[in-house]
Amino acid sequence: MGEFELIRRYFQRPGATAHAGVALGIGDDCALLQPAPGTQLAISSDMLVEGRHFFADVDPASLGHKALAVNLSDLAACGARPLAFTLALSLPQADEAWLAAFARGLFTLADAHDCPLIGGDTTRGPLNLCITVFGEVPVVDGRSRALLRSGARAGDTLWVSGNLGDARLALEALQGQRALAPEHLQAARQRLEQPTPRVALGLALRGVASAALDLSDGLLGDLGHMLQASGCGARIDTAQAASLLATAAPLDEATRLALVLGGGDDYELLFSAPPAQDAAVLAAAQQTGTRVTRIGQIEAAPGLRLVDAQGHEQPNAYASFDHFR
Ligand code: ADP
Ligand code: MG
Repeated sequence: MGEFELIRRYFQRPGATAHAGVALGIGDDCALLQPAPGTQLAISSDMLVEGRHFFADVDPASLGHKALAVNLSDLAACGARPLAFTLALSLPQADEAWLAAFARGLFTLADAHDCPLIGGDTTRGPLNLCITVFGEVPVVDGRSRALLRSGARAGDTLWVSGNLGDARLALEALQGQRALAPEHLQAARQRLEQPTPRVALGLALRGVASAALDLSDGLLGDLGHMLQASGCGARIDTAQAASLLATAAPLDEATRLALVLGGGDDYELLFSAPPAQDAAVLAAAQQTGTRVTRIGQIEAAPGLRLVDAQGHEQPNAYASFDHFR
C-alpha cells in the first residue's frame, strides 16, 4: 500500500466541506478554512512520541482518541469551538489492522465534536503523531472572548473540572512503580488512555471564568503557569484537592494528595472566576454535565500555599512534569 492509498483508505472521508467553516478538505496542496465573520482562529498543536507519551503496545484506537483529545483539550481551555484538524503521521510500517483501529478511535472523537480531518502529512519513520486543531472564538466589540491564562485576579475562586490524579496512578502502576489491583488499574487506565476533552464546559465558561488552562503536566506546575501569567499567587485547599482522585484503590491521604498535585495527563480544566460568578460556574457545569470542584483561591501575594482543613500551611514538596528537567 502506497502513501496515497493509505491516506485515501484510512484518513480521507467524504463530507469535510459539509462542515461550516471548512471550504476545502483533504486532497489539494492546502485545506481552506472559512471562520465565521466576527471570529478569530484558535490554533494549537500537540505531538505524541512513542516511548515518551505512550507505550509501543498501546491500543491503537485509544491512541487515536488520545492524540485528538489532548488537542481538543487546548481548544476547550481557550473557550474555542472546534472547527477542524490536521494530522502529521510518521509510521514505521503500514500495518492495516493498526491503522484501521487508530482511525476508528480518532474519528469517533472527531465526529462527537463535529471536527473533520482536513489535511496532514504521512511519512515512514519512528511512530510519531502530531495533530493541529483549529477552533473559533468570537470577537465582541473588538475584544476576543478567548479564555486566557493571564486573567486571574486576587479574590477569584480556583476551580477544577472532573477528577485528577488517576492517569498518574495508572502510569505508575504500568511502569511497575506501584502495585494496583487489576480492577483499579483498569479504571485508572481508562483515564490515562482515553481522556475526555472538556470542550462544552470551556464554551460555557466564556464570559464567566477570568482565566483557564488545561491540565496536562500536573496541577501544581500548570497552576504555576496561570499564576505567572496573571501576576498573582494562590492558596490550595489540600483536603479538597485530595478528594479529586476517583480511584477506589486503598491509598493513604498523602499518596492521594501527591497524585492529584503532581498528576499529569489529566486533561481537565483549571480555571478561576470571581466569587460573584459562583452560580454561573455551577450552571455551566450542570448544563454541560461536568463535575466542578472549588480547590482554592487566587491571592495577591506571589507563590503557592497548600493549606489543610485546619487552616495550617503545609510544605510544598510536589513536583510536576517537565520533559527537560
Ligand atoms: P504535499 O506533498 O503537497 O504536501 P501530500 O502528497 O503530502 O501533499 O498529501 C496529499 C494530500 O493528503 C494533502 O491534501 C494532505 O493534506 C493530505 N494528507 C496527507 N497525509 C495525511 C494524513 N495523515 N491525514 C490527513 N490528510 C493527509
Ligand atoms: Mg506532503
